[in-house]
Formats: sequence, C-alpha cells, structure tokens
Amino acid sequence: MPLSGGDRKAQAKARREARGIAQVFWEKQVQARAEAEELYRRADQYFCDAWTSLVFWGEPTRNSPTIAQAINGGRPLLWAKCRRCAKEPVIDLRGVKRRPDTHVHLLEAVLFCEECSRGKKFRQRADILGLKSDEPPADPRKNRIVGADV
Ligand SMILES: [Zn+2]
Repeated sequence: MPLSGGDRKAQAKARREARGIAQVFWEKQVQARAEAEELYRRADQYFCDAWTSLVFWGEPTRNSPTIAQAINGGRPLLWAKCRRCAKEPVIDLRGVKRRPDTHVHLLEAVLFCEECSRGKKFRQRADILGLKSDEPPADPRKNRIVGADV
C-alpha cells in the first residue's frame, strides 16, 4: 500500500532514529566484549598463578589450566625441572604442537631431559614446576615500601 507524503517522512525519520539507536548499541556491545575479554584474560592469569603456587610446592599437577588459558593469561612458558641434573628449562607453549584445549599437566608425561637421556636406555623424566610469564620482571624498586629506606 503506497504511503502518503507525511507517512513517508515519518517513516524516514523513524529509520534515522533507529540507525542512531543501533549505532549506540553496537558501540556498547564492542565495549562490553572488550571488557569481557579482559576479565577472561585476568581470570586465566589468576588460574595459572594459583596452579603454579600449588605445583611449585609439591601439590599434584592435576586440574591444570589448558594451553590456551596459559597463553591467554600471559603465562605461556612451562617451567620444568629435570629429576637428575636439576636443570630448569622453560618450554614455550605457543610452539607446542598440541590442541589448545590440552591441559598443561598432561604434557608432564612427555617431558624428558635431552642431556640426561642421551645414550641411555631409558629417557630421564622432568617434573613441572609451574607456568611463567615471558615478560621481564617488574622493576624491583617499584615494589619497595615507601619510607622503608629512611
Ligand atoms: Zn637432566
């Protein structure tokens, strides 16, 4: 049914308003998504740090974060220790050829020390100590207590 001139004007005005409202909602969803991704990143970081603090002090390595969570949480380096020579290499999880949803503790079964295994019948196992950040440590001067050096 054809619209009269007044109705067409009203319809065009309503469409302009709808575009304006849609633009506001679009910007809000982009912002909300960015905030959610930041919260997930922080949650993964806390999970990795909680797991590392338990595993480092000898708790079982089960219930570990996944490779994707470790990378997303800014803890992409798997920290291991050879049972024989006590060397502590780090393995960059971004280069590990496993599915991203693989739990980090499952990698312990395939961790071996190359140096100690060379020429031996059985390969020397290594234990997981935790997950590390690949960022340089923060400036220690910033962590000092204000007024402590008076
Ligand atoms: Zn070794």
